[in-house]
Amino acid sequence: MPKTAVILLGPPGAGKGTQARRIEEFFRFPRISTGDMLREAVRKGSALGKKARRYIEDGDLVPDGLVDAIVKARLGRKDCQRGFILDGYPRTIHQAEYLEAIFPNGQLRIVAAGIQVRDTILVARLAGRWTCSKCGRIFNSASNPSRGGKRCDECNTILVHRLDDSLSVVQERLQVYHHVTKPLIQYYRKRGCYFRINGERPMDEIYEKLKGTITRSQGRAAQVERPLEAGV
Ligand code: AMP
Repeated sequence: MPKTAVILLGPPGAGKGTQARRIEEFFRFPRISTGDMLREAVRKGSALGKKARRYIEDGDLVPDGLVDAIVKARLGRKDCQRGFILDGYPRTIHQAEYLEAIFPNGQLRIVAAGIQVRDTILVARLAGRWTCSKCGRIFNSASNPSRGGKRCDECNTILVHRLDDSLSVVQERLQVYHHVTKPLIQYYRKRGCYFRINGERPMDEIYEKLKGTITRSQGRAAQVERPLEAGV
C-alpha cells in the first residue's frame, strides 16, 4: 500500500503552516516543515544551522543537498509509514525528483495542493504574522490574533516576528517563489496530482477544501488498488 505524501505548495504567507497543523490532526499524518527544522538547527547552532543561517536571513533557498538530507532522515522515521504532510518541501524541481527517488516504484501517492494568494495580500499578511518560537503556531494581528496578546495560546511562549518576515526579505522570498518554486505547479499538474486551492478564502473553507481533496484522492487510490488485491 503506497504512503500518502500531502505536499503543500504555495508562496510564503499562503497559510501552509496553519493548514498543515489542521490536516495533521485530522489525518494523523506527521507535519514536516523544513522551515521549522532549519530554524531549530539555527537556534541550536548546529553545523547545519551554521550553514543554513545566511540563506534564511537573506530570503534565499538553503542548498538542495542540505535540505534533502534532513528530509530523507525525517521521512525514514516510523511515524511516516502511512503518510506525511510536507510544509515547505519540495521547493525546487530537484527536490521534487529527490523525494520520488527516496520512494521509487509507486511507493508514494502524492497529493500536491497549491494554495494561491496574490502577492499584495501576502506582503500585508506577513507584516502582521507572529510566530511561536517554541511550538511554531502562527498568529496574525489582523486576521487571527492570539487570545493572550503577545503570547502563544497553545504554550504561552512569547510570540516573535520572524526576521525573514521583514519587508525586504519577504520581497526576496516572493521572487524566489515565483522563479524557482512555482514551476512545481506544472511539474505536479503533468503527473495528474495537482489541486489548486484559493488561499484568499476564509481559513475554515480552505481547510474543508483540502480535507476533501485529500480524502477523495485516497478514495480514488483505494478503488484502483482493490481489484489488484482481489486478484491476488
Ligand atoms: P518557511 O518557514 O517554509 O517559510 O522557510 C523559511 C526559510 O527556510 C526559507 O525562506 C528558506 O531559506 C529555508 N527553507 C525552508 N524550506 C526549504 C526548502 N525546501 N529548500 C530550501 N530552503 C528552504
